[in-house]
Amino acid sequence: MTPSLGAHLARELAALEDRQRYRHRRVVAGSHGVRIEVDGRRCLNFCSNDYLGLAADPGVAEAMAAAARQTGSGSGASQLISGHNRAHAELEEQLADYLGRPRALLFATGFAANVGIIDALVGRGDTIVADALNHASLIDGARLSGATKRVYAHADPGAADEQLGAAGSGHRLLVTDSVFSMDGDLAPLPALMTAAARHDAWTMVDDAHGFGVLGGGRGACAPPYPVPESRVPSPDVYVATLGKSVGAAGAFVAGDEALIEYLIQRARTLVFSTAPPPAVAAAASAGLRRLREDDWRRAHLFELIARFRRGCEQLGIVVDGGIRDAAGASPATRNSPLETPLTPIQPLVLGSDADALAASRALLERGYLVSAIRPPTVPEGTARLRVTLTAAHDAQQVDGLLAALADCVRPPEPVA
Ligand SMILES: *Cc1c(COP(=O)(O)O)cnc(C)c1O
Repeated sequence: MTPSLGAHLARELAALEDRQRYRHRRVVAGSHGVRIEVDGRRCLNFCSNDYLGLAADPGVAEAMAAAARQTGSGSGASQLISGHNRAHAELEEQLADYLGRPRALLFATGFAANVGIIDALVGRGDTIVADALNHASLIDGARLSGATKRVYAHADPGAADEQLGAAGSGHRLLVTDSVFSMDGDLAPLPALMTAAARHDAWTMVDDAHGFGVLGGGRGACAPPYPVPESRVPSPDVYVATLGKSVGAAGAFVAGDEALIEYLIQRARTLVFSTAPPPAVAAAASAGLRRLREDDWRRAHLFELIARFRRGCEQLGIVVDGGIRDAAGASPATRNSPLETPLTPIQPLVLGSDADALAASRALLERGYLVSAIRPPTVPEGTARLRVTLTAAHDAQQVDGLLAALADCVRPPEPVA
């Protein structure tokens, strides 16, 4: 006899609990800045993606409130029916202008953008060539599209080249994150773009964690690429979110006229989904203005990143995404310039789920919110603390976190 749905799910949940994989949401009261109240406890937030410190910026919030007074709370319909507001259109123009691309197009979320775009662009008979650590939304878009998927070893342009060469006769789409969300390392974009060009493949880069931070703000594909003297040709499809460094919500794709017009016709997550509230677009416009003008935010952020890494080094704590190449070396020992950690994502890999959870709990007791990231978000055996730094932190707060880490994180056993 089949169990009832409730009985079936209760068993599945119990199994997750047994394996330390049960996840709980914590409730935040008030704003989501650095000083945050979580489940009634005041602490310092070191795990948001609010890299420029704009999510709780009073000016951005005021722009949102002012727009809401004018445009109301909801858009009422999809972009194609009656939901496309002037605030959306202006934001799209500002984004295209900033990136020097002909057009930009908004989506309600980055997840929806990636799924809708990939599904619209490729299908059965086509091939998607993807990095092994790509974001879940890129993976799901590939699945939904029905295209054949060929996965290459993480950040390995030679392996990508091989997969592109082995693809069938249909269209080829190379898809990669720019900054990998759980490891903080960079895709070798110049070499990947070269490989794609060699095989006449289209290119799509998800710059969720690079936009606003790298390239002077314009992201991982803008000069200067973080690796000196390399240039990245513009990808055909450039996606970034508005909920991370922009401090609002939503996402956009930037590209040529034909790409954008085609997506307006065919991206199902746009066509069949209510447009975000205009006030959210107004907030993103205000965030974008700060992102463009406030170079001090990036300068301060990179100072804090350097401070944090120096502190970890002094404590013997290895900052490392747990990525291993074929020879078993980690980026920390591989010393490739591509792995130079220039991003706000600083992972401390602890290995077991239990160790990561215990360290996260111990940090919270000391007033630091750093969430434990466990499989399936990261590969088995690489559970970690994902520390993120933002322009809203200050040096004392980073030093405080380092002192707490010294108490809560054991340096790893030397590997024989
Ligand atoms: C956060 C993220 C997304 C999803 O964006 P949302 O707007 O949060 O849905 C997509 N890709 C990457 C790499 C991300 O980190």
